Amino acid sequence: MIPAVMQDRFDVIVVGVGGMGSAACYHLARRGVRVLGLEQFDIPHTRGSSHGYSRMIRTAYYEHPNYVPLLQRAFKLWKQLEDESLLKILHVTGGLYMGRAGGEIIAGSLASSRKHGLAYELHTRDELRTLYPQFHLPEDFVGLFEYQAGYLVPELAIGAHVDLSMRHGATIHGSEPVIRWSSDAHGVTVTTTRQTYHAENLVFCGGAWSDKLITDLGVKLLVTRQVMGWVQPLRRDYFQFGVLPVWAIDNNDGTLYYGFPLTPESPGVKVAHHGPGPATDPDTIDRTPHADDEQGFRAAIQKFLPDADGPLMSMRICMYTNSPDHHFILDRHPTHPRVTLACGFSGHGFKFASVIGEALAELAMHGRSELPIEFLGLSRFAQRS
Ligand SMILES: Cc1cc2nc3c(=O)[nH]c(=O)nc-3n(C[C@H](O)[C@H](O)[C@H](O)COP(=O)(O)OP(=O)(O)OC[C@H]3O[C@@H](n4cnc5c(N)ncnc54)[C@H](O)[C@@H]3O)c2cc1C
Repeated sequence: MIPAVMQDRFDVIVVGVGGMGSAACYHLARRGVRVLGLEQFDIPHTRGSSHGYSRMIRTAYYEHPNYVPLLQRAFKLWKQLEDESLLKILHVTGGLYMGRAGGEIIAGSLASSRKHGLAYELHTRDELRTLYPQFHLPEDFVGLFEYQAGYLVPELAIGAHVDLSMRHGATIHGSEPVIRWSSDAHGVTVTTTRQTYHAENLVFCGGAWSDKLITDLGVKLLVTRQVMGWVQPLRRDYFQFGVLPVWAIDNNDGTLYYGFPLTPESPGVKVAHHGPGPATDPDTIDRTPHADDEQGFRAAIQKFLPDADGPLMSMRICMYTNSPDHHFILDRHPTHPRVTLACGFSGHGFKFASVIGEALAELAMHGRSELPIEFLGLSRFAQRS
């Protein structure tokens, strides 16, 4: 039975218990902080950005070499989470990235690998044809393979972070939307559909709802509708776990197609397009997949992976929250020093959730983090305008 009035004073309140918020709760609780996590839906759920059985994790980060030290820390923290929860959350498969030699994905992955001394192999198109006959590639494509890559199971990661945070003393409430908040020199106040709570500090991890929760950020976040698809491969032997690494193919327009091997968590080969889809609103988005949603990833399968072009197994709709430069936003609120925020993950944030949780815990507790996160701060937008 739920008590009529529950405890209402905490050290830190975390709003949003999805990918990032669950990790923040865990890292705060582990440090002995009295934390309250508030989630508007179930924990976990399928209405945000952290569902769909798999999220790619890579190290040779083509997006920018600055992410690599955070990824190396993220890998360690995912392992720590597995050890503490006794769950298998991270599956290492290796990662294969394909594109033109001078294109974004190959050149960017190489730059990160060289700068940080990562282990990788470069393959010509002929070598790729022998090593990975699953892929049918244009003449001028090459491949970069890296060892430290694979996938995370997002629902398990959230479950493990939440379960362990509660074991470390956290209070977590699902189905309790936050409807308003305020902060002043004395503390923060958060009102939900059930109750009002007080704390020293507040952490926002609202995903696609971030704009609605923090209306005075001064940075435009674009929420987009994204499709994930699963198909039965025609040749299962080509797509087994242990045979196929996680992979990405440059679409030569700033977007890419990517996918996963067959995994026990989802009965099919998962393929998706990485690039902002149509603009949407998290409260009104159409979460029902339609026939034309299939066309986007089906065309890529037919072109690049014809042996995977079997019957459709399932489709899911998800959301990206795109920042103006597609890099994350991780900082203190510019005018509310008691408020920390993490948003704008632009469709590539989940792999970092473990280390973002650690950074958020440090920011909320000490106002700064030892992790190299300066490049994700809000000041970069002010410098441009
Ligand atoms: C199709 C797709 C594929 C992706 N693939 C990859 C990948 O392969 N690798 C990778 O690293 N990343 C990937 N990403 C990106 C990654 O999944 C996201 O960056 C990450 O999940 C974002 O986590 P989050 O915590 O910000 O959002 P969420 O997990 O959505 O959490 C935000 C939470 O805040 C809650 N909330 C909002 N408002 C309120 C309120 N008022 N009160 C209480 N709770 C509230 C929401 O309900 C939600 O649970 C992908 C994303 C999508 C959509």
